[in-house]
Amino acid sequence: MARVGGDEFIGITDQVPLAASAELLATRMRAAFEDPIEVEGHALKLDLCVGAALFPRDAENIVSLLANADAALYRAKHEGRGAIRLFTSAMDQQLRERRALEHDLRFAVERGELYLDYQPQEHRDGGITGYEALVRWRHPDRGIIPPGEFIPAAERSGSIAQIDDWVLMEACREAASWDAPLRIAVNVSAAQFRRENLDTQVRKALRESGLSPARFELEITEGVLIEDVSRAKKTMQSLKSLGILIALDDFGTGYSSLSYVEAFPLDRIKIDRSFVASLGNSERSLAIVRAVIGLAHGLGLPVLAEGIETNVQMSLLVREGCDEMQGYLIGRPQSLAAGKSPSRPSTRSRILSAC
Ligand code: C2E
Ligand code: MG
Ligand code: MG
Repeated sequence: MARVGGDEFIGITDQVPLAASAELLATRMRAAFEDPIEVEGHALKLDLCVGAALFPRDAENIVSLLANADAALYRAKHEGRGAIRLFTSAMDQQLRERRALEHDLRFAVERGELYLDYQPQEHRDGGITGYEALVRWRHPDRGIIPPGEFIPAAERSGSIAQIDDWVLMEACREAASWDAPLRIAVNVSAAQFRRENLDTQVRKALRESGLSPARFELEITEGVLIEDVSRAKKTMQSLKSLGILIALDDFGTGYSSLSYVEAFPLDRIKIDRSFVASLGNSERSLAIVRAVIGLAHGLGLPVLAEGIETNVQMSLLVREGCDEMQGYLIGRPQSLAAGKSPSRPSTRSRILSAC
């Protein structure tokens, strides 16, 4: 057995190379993790995903044997906790595509293939309060690739830092050019939050663009806070000392830990769109939305709901006291026409008539 990365291990066995015996071995390994492991008085529950490749069936040499086991592991991880997958040739094709994508991604910034779309955020009384910058990749052969596909690939291949820095700079530059002093929200990846110099990068982007820190908001998810709480606190404090705002994105989907909401210096909570999507059909979603709004308001934090697509959702949110709205109903993410800077529109009648 060898540890080859953060949470990845390789095991080699010289048992008869049959698919059935590989699967049996993996099942036994997984079973060994079923009981919690005790560490310093805490019972930790671990999950194991296994990917396996057989020699000589799946590969001619050790390099491709390892690569194919990695492809099988990738698939297992994708399928979720406890999955066990044996290599197939279709995975080989997927692995090749994944590698090609990761390769192309390394040059995406310098080739100018990335661009930002901006999605409006609106106050409950109408009137745009800001825009969220959402990155897209215009691949020369594959067309437009959404961030959900290439951000994880960039995190794996190490090109995320370059992309994050570009997004930060570009979003600040764009917002600084607007006539109205609206807020600009930028998403931060887990990898970027872990980097030592996030505050330096933010300060640099603000200085070079001339954007006021009070107009700049970083969107973080709970996942980035949970990894190392004391370090996350330090990072948050150094970011807050720049005078910027911090929003907690996708709230309700992760740990939704009340202690985080209390312990971290947040300026806004964004309710995830999965709850908004079922508003109107599900009493449970309504109960969750109501509870999150109550919690946030109790702590003096405004709430922004994401993914609003219908007037019913909008009016329920307004009724529940939600402060800000974002979603296709208000505006889709789109590029801002060159030279046409957003200005603050007058109060809309839609929300009022929907109430
Ligand atoms: P997010 O920050 O939660 O962004 C909101 C996502 O919801 C966006 O998807 C947006 O297009 C989509 N959306 C907005 N309104 C609606 C709606 O009414 N209905 C539906 N069905 N969807 C809506 P997108 O642009 O594909 O971004 C996905 C995720 O990728 C983002 O989730 C964010 O976590 C990440 N991301 C986007 N841009 C960046 C970036 O510049 N850097 C990093 N690190 N991550 C980014
Ligand atoms: Mg976001
Ligand atoms: Mg979100």
